[in-house]
Amino acid sequence: MKDHIISKTKEIALELTSVLSVVNTIGEIAVSEKVYNILKEMKYFKNNEKDLKYISVLNDKLGRKSVMATIRGQKNNSNKTVVLIGHTDTVGISDYGSLKDYANKPFELTEKLKEIELPKEVKADLESGKYLFGRGLLDMKTGVAVLLSLIEDISNNIEEFEGNLIFAAVCDEEANSNGMLSVVPELVKLKEKEKFEYQAILDTDYITSEYDGDENRYIYIGTVGKIMPTFLVVGKETHVGESFKGLDPNEISSELIRKINLNVDFCDVTEGEVSLPPISLRQRDLKTEYSCQIANKSITMFSVATQSSTPDQVMEKMIKAADECFNITIDKLNKEYNSFCKLNGRQFVDLPWKSRVLSYDELYSKVNQEVTNLEEKVNEYIQTLLKDETIDQVDRSLKIVNFVHDLWSDRNPVVIVYFTPPYYPHIYVEGKTDKEKKLLDAVSNAVDTTKTEYKLVYKKFFPYISDLSYGAAPKDIMIVKALKENLPGFGTSYSIPIENMQQLDLPVLNIGAYGKDAHKFTERLEEKYSFEVVPELVYKTIINLL
Ligand SMILES: [Zn+2]
Repeated sequence: MKDHIISKTKEIALELTSVLSVVNTIGEIAVSEKVYNILKEMKYFKNNEKDLKYISVLNDKLGRKSVMATIRGQKNNSNKTVVLIGHTDTVGISDYGSLKDYANKPFELTEKLKEIELPKEVKADLESGKYLFGRGLLDMKTGVAVLLSLIEDISNNIEEFEGNLIFAAVCDEEANSNGMLSVVPELVKLKEKEKFEYQAILDTDYITSEYDGDENRYIYIGTVGKIMPTFLVVGKETHVGESFKGLDPNEISSELIRKINLNVDFCDVTEGEVSLPPISLRQRDLKTEYSCQIANKSITMFSVATQSSTPDQVMEKMIKAADECFNITIDKLNKEYNSFCKLNGRQFVDLPWKSRVLSYDELYSKVNQEVTNLEEKVNEYIQTLLKDETIDQVDRSLKIVNFVHDLWSDRNPVVIVYFTPPYYPHIYVEGKTDKEKKLLDAVSNAVDTTKTEYKLVYKKFFPYISDLSYGAAPKDIMIVKALKENLPGFGTSYSIPIENMQQLDLPVLNIGAYGKDAHKFTERLEEKYSFEVVPELVYKTIINLL
């Protein structure tokens, strides 16, 4: 890579890192303005002011904004366009403790760290002199710097450049992706207005080793998705003195954890790549006070990574699992009750429980048959929930499901399965369409022609949840229906621009800076690969695509 791009990338990476931009703080606005100003100083944007603008996050209390820049190549009048994205926010800095003031000063921090006790691997990296430490330097200000320095270089020779670039520096990635979600509709508008033919979305978020001792440098084509199936278990309350007369929802919840948590049967396997198994994010009963009555309801929530499973398929698997867990619980209770009766010399009669599992959609239909104006009632309830800032998305979803269930005349035990937001679709670049084939070729050519001591490996599925997921959405009506109708409050309490995502329908990839310990105070960037090799790979991929 040309020397001036390497040095410029480093310079911008440090400049961006110096601006603290912790997610959900006004620092996010400061860093967006920094990016905007860097672009504004470039010759191209001095001549083309209207191609540089802010995109505000809708209804944002902080008034955060992303930056969007369009670069129009002048050679051969091509409509082909590559979309480049990078996030400018970071996670918080409380993990730095007493070194907090140095979190955004990489050189000073790297020196300060020499004075404290560190894990062996961190110490070795620190002493090697190959790493720079700092919040956001790895995740992902260096990635944003790569894009900015390439844009400067390309736009300085715009007569020689064929095709177009759109660069979006987005906020809020570490929280709710509101930056990307507000950029997606703009991308659709631009595409229609300018007749741009989008080829792919390229992100430069960080990469790291996938296992101990892994020296590979990965390029990811496509991305994993995430969906959060959640179980509202309705049992039957009883006095603790009549224990066999009740059905404890915690008992069924426990079975759900045992059955689903980290169970590799639920992994997606695609082209030999395996998604992470489901992991539980919440399990609790809904009883708020202490009393001699068992709980009546409980909730269990999982995060499920996807590579191929669609919302309808996830729902089907979860309903099946819940039914099994319900039956296991009933069998266990009958067995214990039978033994209890024998010990007491009483006659055993089967307990009355029957397994019953409904999707939220099914529950809603049943309640809708009994209650007039259900939709109106639910919407009104959602509006009151939205006014209360102490209620987060997870609790809001639960409260909506609970509200609907409370309106039902049927009080018998049941498990209701629904999806808690956010939802991130996976994007699988199979190589079936022309666009996908072209992307795979563009990357393999970039990798093959880049001379480096590093072992470059390309894989499918960027393994971390990211904004890339919003570059496309499932198109099958039944899949979208299964998502929308089982995600309580879809469109009111939570929304994503599904139609716009379907219109984009883009293959995605990630070529990122390399380092370790993102989201830890030992976050560090390996300079050589990140500053020297990444710009070359990104540049070649862009040129190949255009
Ligand atoms: Zn990131």
